[in-house]
Amino acid sequence: MAKEEKTVKEEKKVEVEDLPGVGEATAEKLRENGYDDILSLAVASPKDLSELAGIGEGAAVKIIASARKFADVGNFESGEEIMKRRQLVKKLTSGSKNLDELIGGGLETQSITEFFGEFGSGKTQIMQQLAVNATMPEEMGGFNCDVLMIDTENTFRPERIIQMAKAKGLDPDETLRRIQVARAYNSHHQILLVEKAIEEAKGRNIKLLIVDSLTSHFRAEFMGRGSLAGRQQMLNRHMHDLLKFGLLNNAVIAVTNQVSARPDVFFGDPTAPIGGNIVGHTATFRIYLRKSKAGRRIARLIDSPNLPEGEVVIQVTEDGISDPPS
Ligand code: ADP
Ligand code: MG
Repeated sequence: MAKEEKTVKEEKKVEVEDLPGVGEATAEKLRENGYDDILSLAVASPKDLSELAGIGEGAAVKIIASARKFADVGNFESGEEIMKRRQLVKKLTSGSKNLDELIGGGLETQSITEFFGEFGSGKTQIMQQLAVNATMPEEMGGFNCDVLMIDTENTFRPERIIQMAKAKGLDPDETLRRIQVARAYNSHHQILLVEKAIEEAKGRNIKLLIVDSLTSHFRAEFMGRGSLAGRQQMLNRHMHDLLKFGLLNNAVIAVTNQVSARPDVFFGDPTAPIGGNIVGHTATFRIYLRKSKAGRRIARLIDSPNLPEGEVVIQVTEDGISDPPS
């Protein structure tokens, strides 16, 4: 654990306000648009920064230059160090052997796994199943750990957890105690909750963090405001915070994402996940869910770095997520 913690940088001391030329008003605009730490400014483009924060391009260039002086950009790691960290990776069962096999044996720690699909495709069912599974002993494909969940749509149902826990032969009360849920009221709150989660997990055995849904607040708040870049910047920051949680705690990060209901606004493809490239580049595993007949769902693995694309059938029943009878 101590070894893992060293692989991630400590919180930065220098704040956005501390940069020369950044007054209170500018700092607020920067923060609102997701530039809320020095690193995010250091890697910004002058054009984006000037447009998003409503400052001149010259001022943006200066802010970026001074952010670069203060930024803690991290270190190079040897392949050996990375290999050591990879060896700590554990896999969490989804409840379906078909799906586990498709993703190489289960959901990996130190990575973000994204489930996307239309309304009712089973994303929340899978999140709740993962929460239950993570509390199971390792022999059953769990982590025997506690779980944190950020619920943005108020769809967490303890009654459903009880059903799923019973189906696995677990004590339902104990299972409920091990799953802690926070409602996120807006995108800023959601981002703060990840910081809170990092605090909460210190000294504890929390190996699963769920965000259901990753994108609903971002989508609602930025709809039609023409500030797609600002939204992407915030989502980018959020994804990196999530990944940091995964690295610090050797935890699985599972998130859900809707497919676009507004293809004209969101990247043209009606089945495109919200957040486009930002979410795509940070999520290590992306699984597209679609409804099939009789409680069945088709799960398709999309752009994995080291696994072939493919799809499997899973089912959602009262007992939770499983393989359909063959
Ligand atoms: P999403 O989060 O993708 O919008 P959900 O995960 O909420 O979708 O999926 C809802 C669907 O899950 C329901 O339409 C139903 O098919 C299935 N479902 C939910 N609860 C149960 C249950 N207790 N038994 C069987 N199926 C259920
Ligand atoms: Mg849902």
